[in-house]
Amino acid sequence: MGKKLSEGIKEWFGWFPSSTFENNTCIFVPNMANTCVFDTKGGLVIFDFPIRQFAQKTFDEVRRITNKPVKYVIYSHGHFDHAFGYGPFIEEIRKKGWDMPEVIAHENCIRRFEKYKILDKYHDWINKQQFVSVSGRGRDAVVSAHETLEPTIILQGNKSSYSFKIGDLNFKIYHDIGETDDSIWLWVPEKKTICTGDLMVSSFPNIGNPFKVQRYPKDWAVAMEKMREKNAEYLVPGHGRLIEGKENVRDALSITAEVMHFVHDEVVKRLNEGKWFEQIYHEMLEIYPEKFKKHKILRGYYGCYRFAIHAAYRLYHGWYNSGNPTDLFPSKMVDIAREFLKLSSEIVYLEHAKKLFFEGKLQLALHILDIIIKGSDEQNIKVLTDALNLKVKILKEKVKDESSFIATNILENGAHQINMRLKELQKPI
Ligand SMILES: [Zn+2]
Repeated sequence: MGKKLSEGIKEWFGWFPSSTFENNTCIFVPNMANTCVFDTKGGLVIFDFPIRQFAQKTFDEVRRITNKPVKYVIYSHGHFDHAFGYGPFIEEIRKKGWDMPEVIAHENCIRRFEKYKILDKYHDWINKQQFVSVSGRGRDAVVSAHETLEPTIILQGNKSSYSFKIGDLNFKIYHDIGETDDSIWLWVPEKKTICTGDLMVSSFPNIGNPFKVQRYPKDWAVAMEKMREKNAEYLVPGHGRLIEGKENVRDALSITAEVMHFVHDEVVKRLNEGKWFEQIYHEMLEIYPEKFKKHKILRGYYGCYRFAIHAAYRLYHGWYNSGNPTDLFPSKMVDIAREFLKLSSEIVYLEHAKKLFFEGKLQLALHILDIIIKGSDEQNIKVLTDALNLKVKILKEKVKDESSFIATNILENGAHQINMRLKELQKPI
């Protein structure tokens, strides 16, 4: 179903082979999110497990290269695609009678696991929308929030850090918020390697994701700048290919810091000028610099700049975002639409929507169609069906021009739901 995945999003999903660097001592395994394994004289250190359905694949790929026991596990954050695919590793430890590894995470990761337990069904519902083009419809959740491998070493508070040594290698772990409030990143000086988790992915940062809670643009920039000070030669991102070479690593971190500062500061400036969201959003689209638009690291394959504007705004603003008191306690959309339809018939709206569609004003056409779709009686089946069909057509048209995987899935899902409604309407009574 839907359009083919772009090359950029295939990279985000890790559809390329595993590899090693630093003479086979660092193993890089992309399976949706990336796992990085450090093979030390004292045993293995694993930075991030994959999502549960790829756990066996990741395990097999690691075991093809080394058979040493796992001594430490580090969770970059507690998302399903970074901390849940531990099964085969733990099974092996039990079978071989090895000691359990230390599991390192930030204290907010434990809160996240608790949150997942109370919002299990909700997250499943969200994920079905966000990932529908790769996970299919109607499938059961691939991850149960009720089974987790609990952290044993817990970083606490802001700006916390933790270090340990194993074999000849030092592992330095830092907490900085960005995509999540539980994120930590790793610096291994002897391997000149940084593991970032989702603070770096092969797309514009996933900030302002329409389904997700608040994320942190300014702190994200600060994290990038702290990482840049390490002068790393390798950067293992949360998703996408390994970044190699001091210049490339520095450039990726710098441009990401710069764009996060830009979004944050330009939104803040406009808040201080007394502007409301709509004005801020459209002005921000106008002023987005070419250097960001063109940069490889910032292509909007997954998250995108348009979503980032929401994130920066929401950081400082409440839900009353239009500045129009009409919106404070609004009527139901269905009642509003019915009043519009009293002024002019559905046919007039439909004809106007078609005109807008032919003029290429797709978004405006959608707003007009919604008046019919929301307000029309199901007895008006012919015009309602025409309106729904045109809406599907427009959503599909928008998909063609959409780069963001998340936005594409929202549009595709909307079209799918309308098609389901059309089927219902066509059933004989
Ligand atoms: Zn991720």
